[in-house]
Amino acid sequence: MTKTVLITGGSRGIGRATARLLGALGWSVGVNYASNRAAAEATAADVERAGGRALPIAGDVSSEADVIATFDTLQQAYGRVDALVNNAGIVAPSSQLADMDLARLKRMFDVNVLGAYLCAREAARRMSTARGGAGGVIVNVSSAASRLGSPNEYIDYAGSKGAVDTLTLGLARELGPQGVRVNAVRPGLIDTEIHASGGKPERAAQLGATTPLGRPGSADEVAQSIVWLLSDAASYVTGALLDVAGGR
Ligand code: NAP
Repeated sequence: MTKTVLITGGSRGIGRATARLLGALGWSVGVNYASNRAAAEATAADVERAGGRALPIAGDVSSEADVIATFDTLQQAYGRVDALVNNAGIVAPSSQLADMDLARLKRMFDVNVLGAYLCAREAARRMSTARGGAGGVIVNVSSAASRLGSPNEYIDYAGSKGAVDTLTLGLARELGPQGVRVNAVRPGLIDTEIHASGGKPERAAQLGATTPLGRPGSADEVAQSIVWLLSDAASYVTGALLDVAGGR
């Protein structure tokens, strides 16, 4: 049977790479995005070329109404939701906490924490066997930043990912008896556009060279771990925080 997944932030980077791999496995993919419709459509076309089905769905994960509408749209299109890749996330320019204004802090926690919680909540409501669902899988995309703290760069971002780790630990225990596995991947320095959005396009290449594996990771390398956690090959894995960080 074809499985259906919602990938938040599926238009670019790690989300796009995950969508493509799942397309090749025949999944139906909801490609959520914030504003870059062209990128979401390109990802959807890739998924369909690979053999899956795909639907671009606009929606800001920090908006409760958008999150509910996004899940509704996916369910109406494909009849079911089997999995969530809770991937949408942002950074902001490098700064010390003393220089961070309220608007930046609010946006960081709204998107990375509230967004992750709202999407996980909607997935739980629809997939929990205790609520009439058929069970499922959630993979949260955290970051190695949650254990490094990211001083002088992104301690707001690092804290937001700490919350994603804790969400993973708690929700795995809450939903285990309800047929839903919940895990997180914690990527390290991955070659995507997120670094340019924080004002440092060369960050992954420069810092990646200092890791034990001596290079940045690719979005595909993170996507492979996400796809494994979604698969039945990981059927006894829940509550895990999987570092995909080249030893960093
Ligand atoms: P990216 O290339 O910058 O892509 C970000 C994606 O998130 C885009 O699809 C974007 O949509 C979407 N997005 C942003 N804000 C959103 C919102 N409010 N609502 C819905 N979608 C939103 O990022 P990435 O590097 O692939 O990162 C993906 C995840 O991995 C994030 O959670 C990030 O924190 C985490 N991560 C990345 C790295 C790394 O080195 N790259 C390391 C550790 C963790 P649009 O295309 O519409 O803008």
